[in-house]
Amino acid sequence: MALTARFWHRLDDGRLQCDLCPHHCRLSDGQRGRCFVRARHGDRLVLTTYGRASGFCVDPIEKKPLHHVLPGSSVLSFGTAGCNLACRFCQNWELSTSRQIDTHSEAAAPADIAEAAGALDCASVAFTYNDPVIFHEYAVDVAAACRERGIRTVAVTAGFVDPEPRREFYASMDAANIDLKAFTPDFYRRLCGARLEPVLDTLRYVVHETDVWLEITTLLIPGHNDSDAEVARLAGWIATELGPEVPLHLTAFHPAHRMTDVPPTPPTTLRRARRVALGSGLRFVYTGNVHDLDGGTTTCPGCGSAVIVRDGYTLVRYHLDEAGHCRTCGIRLPGTFEGPPGASGEHRRPVMVRMRS
Ligand code: SF4
Repeated sequence: MALTARFWHRLDDGRLQCDLCPHHCRLSDGQRGRCFVRARHGDRLVLTTYGRASGFCVDPIEKKPLHHVLPGSSVLSFGTAGCNLACRFCQNWELSTSRQIDTHSEAAAPADIAEAAGALDCASVAFTYNDPVIFHEYAVDVAAACRERGIRTVAVTAGFVDPEPRREFYASMDAANIDLKAFTPDFYRRLCGARLEPVLDTLRYVVHETDVWLEITTLLIPGHNDSDAEVARLAGWIATELGPEVPLHLTAFHPAHRMTDVPPTPPTTLRRARRVALGSGLRFVYTGNVHDLDGGTTTCPGCGSAVIVRDGYTLVRYHLDEAGHCRTCGIRLPGTFEGPPGASGEHRRPVMVRMRS
């Protein structure tokens, strides 16, 4: 029998309202929420994907992307099915729009995932591919199992979540990469079926009220969110509201899902946008999904040395000590640094997670 979900209440008209994300779906018996995976069965809301995971892979942490968390280390990544956003340009649409939970996933208890991460020499586990907000209870339980074994946890999310579950979710995480998909309400409404303001609230919450390390990703889509003016406003907001040390990743779009009529992001757009974002006050701006040595380089904010140079996901220079201090000037780089860099390498490795529990 499916587990009962948390975060819902009964309305006067007999429907059940989900209080997990700002969509606040109101469900009659037999209906599913917009995310597809939280559903009403009789008098309760249930979790249809608890303990069902898909896409297990060992990735370099740089692929999440996180550039200031245990550089070069391996992360065990997985997702489930469904999503609470409906991005027309989704780059993981096979999973996020999947309606075949059983065929696209395998059973994996929280302890099994944590054990597998340890056995595969992964420093962390990432909840990714689809939005972990919608599998909140599973993610929180996997995170607890990881922490018992000294393994860190990483959320890759759009940040579209209500305040109460948000508190518990981020209390379970060590690092997050949150999408800021654009800086206009219109983009979120038309192209994602969501709203901008709750995402900005989540970003403020994570930086100002938690110890979670945050990096932000914006997928630049030609003609939709890549103007200099919008990039400057987005980066300026991050610098002012969150702080100039929050890293921003500007990544290249590839035609996918329901947006196949837009060309890929040219590398020149990414480089130009990076200059604009740096000029708007951010200290760490990276390009992604493109070959760009400058855009993959971390520069020391103290002396300007290139302290981490990445070629793709491979570290080709590492000029920090074991606690993350620049070896030239001694300034500590913001982020999570521990010991020597890892050597996860360029490629993702699909893996099986064995059921033990
Ligand atoms: S989590 Fe799912 S069911 Fe709940 S409000 Fe969001 S989309 Fe609706």
